[in-house]
Amino acid sequence: MKRLLILGSTGSIGKQALAVVRAHPQDFQVVGLSGHRQAKLLAAQAQEFGLDDRQVATDGEGIARLVQGARADVVLNALVGYAGLTPSLLALRAGADLAIANKESLVVGGELLLKQASPGQLLPVDSEHSAIWQCLQGEDRASVRTLWITCSGGAFRGWTRAQLAQATAAQALRHPTWQMGAKITIDSATLMNKGFEVIEAHHLFQVPYERIKVVLHPQSVVHSAVEFADGAIKAQLGSPDMRLPIAYALYQGKRLPLSEYPGSDQVTQLDLTRLGDLQFGPIDCATFACFELAVAAGRSGGTMPCVLNAAGEAANLAFREGRLDFLGIEQVVRSALTAHRRADLSSLEQLDQVDAWARAFAEEEIARLA
Ligand code: MG
Repeated sequence: MKRLLILGSTGSIGKQALAVVRAHPQDFQVVGLSGHRQAKLLAAQAQEFGLDDRQVATDGEGIARLVQGARADVVLNALVGYAGLTPSLLALRAGADLAIANKESLVVGGELLLKQASPGQLLPVDSEHSAIWQCLQGEDRASVRTLWITCSGGAFRGWTRAQLAQATAAQALRHPTWQMGAKITIDSATLMNKGFEVIEAHHLFQVPYERIKVVLHPQSVVHSAVEFADGAIKAQLGSPDMRLPIAYALYQGKRLPLSEYPGSDQVTQLDLTRLGDLQFGPIDCATFACFELAVAAGRSGGTMPCVLNAAGEAANLAFREGRLDFLGIEQVVRSALTAHRRADLSSLEQLDQVDAWARAFAEEEIARLA
């Protein structure tokens, strides 16, 4: 039985992780949960899994205490945004395996996390990275040529710049294939999320940027692929259901039989004879500028991804709150990246400062554009 700590248990990933746990109570003991805004749901989860007040956190300090004191075997970090970085580092330091659904940790602090992590300690949860991990099983890493990350295109696939200028948050929140939290759904609509995933893949699999490619695949059936030295490409296919990559991470790469998930929908089994056409093509980087901004910041490294993320978080929220136009998001991010002088990454304290600077800069820019 594994001792499992879930950070962000009231969010989309957290709830789906608890669905996996609920279906396999013999395999997991939930030793802690954290939630932020949904106090009622958090209390109900704590009661269901028999946790007292000391095993539940509602803020950063509480989370740090929990991660350091829970003696977890696995920490699932499903927090949103930069707030996830410190808990990720603490979990690795505490010797827990880190199932990482908080991609911002890797985007901003990938260099720090990778220095801290021992081999196999980082477990991908993002569907694309889980797919790549699955494709790499049993393969010699030296024979990997290219990682292919698939991209649904988000809610605005096929839209023009003129249409995007009028796009609303309600429209952006209608993702065609994946049910996710609000922040990441907006990041999917701008393709910022796909840029983040390139950075995430670079760190997780230690593959240089020039050998990570993104391919548009609107059906979200092929979750990603790996191309090898002989030209063979292995892809992983499955239903767009996050419970599958979550379970694969929580079981450290072991496969479960397709399960009953009490109280929630069943995972849809893929029938290849009914799939119909699967489409693949290039993504539209000219229309969705955030993708290239993100990848450029990743390649530049150091403090640049921190600025990318902080300005992106501020702009994403401003858009959801109606304080910024959709195309304003890329403008705010670009301005922040241009204004920042890159430095090599040295510490978490340095990142805290850069993060605070970039947020303040972004807010000024958002106010200026209003
Ligand atoms: Mg993803």
